[in-house]
Amino acid sequence: MSESFDQINPPPRLLMGPGPINADPRVLRAMSAQLVGQYDPAMTSYMNETMALYRQIFETQNQWTLLIDGTSRAGIESVLVSALEPGDKVLVPVFGRFGHLLTEIAHRCGAEVHTLDVEWGQVFTPDQIEDAIKTIRPKMLAVVQGDTATTMLQPLEELGAICQRYDVLLYSDATASIVGNAFKADEWGLDAVSVGLQKCLGGPSGSAPITLSDRFVDVINQRRHIEAGIRDAHHQDSQGQIIRSNYFDLPMILDYWGEERLNHHTEASSMLYCARECARIVLQEGLENTIARHKLNGDAMRAGAEGLNLKLFGDQANKMNNVLGVYIPEGVDGEAVRQSMLLDFGIEIGTSFGHLKGKIWRIGTMGYNARKDAVLTTLSALENVLRRMGHKLPQGEGIDRAMAVYNGEAS
Ligand SMILES: *Cc1c(COP(=O)(O)O)cnc(C)c1O
Repeated sequence: MSESFDQINPPPRLLMGPGPINADPRVLRAMSAQLVGQYDPAMTSYMNETMALYRQIFETQNQWTLLIDGTSRAGIESVLVSALEPGDKVLVPVFGRFGHLLTEIAHRCGAEVHTLDVEWGQVFTPDQIEDAIKTIRPKMLAVVQGDTATTMLQPLEELGAICQRYDVLLYSDATASIVGNAFKADEWGLDAVSVGLQKCLGGPSGSAPITLSDRFVDVINQRRHIEAGIRDAHHQDSQGQIIRSNYFDLPMILDYWGEERLNHHTEASSMLYCARECARIVLQEGLENTIARHKLNGDAMRAGAEGLNLKLFGDQANKMNNVLGVYIPEGVDGEAVRQSMLLDFGIEIGTSFGHLKGKIWRIGTMGYNARKDAVLTTLSALENVLRRMGHKLPQGEGIDRAMAVYNGEAS
């Protein structure tokens, strides 16, 4: 039996969860542009321009700043599988779900993975991390900057100097936090960084910008010569082990993005158009302004949530600007609230995972949706739904408190 379906026509939604969020209309237009050949000078120029744009996004001079085709974890996996050999030690401070993801991927690379743990809703001090580095002596410290699972932002400022002291590579997954919070790859001494588009960059998931320091590139290039060994197994020597992925083999991907343009994959052109436009939007607004906009709207959402008589989750001094965790009030069915928000009002807010499941909602103000009207619409809908579900709250207080933040009368 042959089936037929209508053309794609998604319902209108305001996505105010922890990601994905609504794409900026400019990004959607860029994505719909016509394709050109992989080595067309227009395409290779777009690739070079995208590298230059993301150097500004990451605040780096790193030559090797490019895109990995795939969702954010493609960026994570390319960094870890290219740098880590079986038996290498990695230290992962885990303060949320994505720390577990780094752990899991490093484990699959055959690395000896050591974790540091902290109660969810907290972050680590530099001293805690330095002490662990001193005893474990890892090859790499792999740390998430902002973990949407807990809304926490791990301060990275001091970790670069610590890692240099002990000759440790510093890698960060900044997918959730980039352009919504300060991130300075060079000043902070990062060796590798990977992100995605579907959080504050305001695009769809499917492209993972990364940047690599010269020090990091030297490490992965030591495994480059082994490529030849694939064809001639006897060629393998003891200097290093083969990178256990073709798709994520960074030395090969650098050859494709570099001047030689050696064929590897076929660049996902539509995603490249999209990643390029995401960066252009941020840089036209100004990186500082974009971060300030995320802070303003995040502060307004937080003040509004308190006005709705909701209790805040986690250490507020180390929270990301762009995601808020609030406890689901006693006696209120969290999923019924999310259902009504989605189906009656067309607004999505986030649930939680792991031991926070059923305990907190996560509300995002990111990218294109870090806007006053999106915040106020979400708060007024939430007030209505909460009231109908039996939660006691002072009428109008959510909007009033958010407005006070916008008017500079409160923080
Ligand atoms: C959202 C998020 C991701 C997303 O990974 P995908 O592969 O794009 O689903 C990765 N890391 C962090 C820290 C995130 O917050």
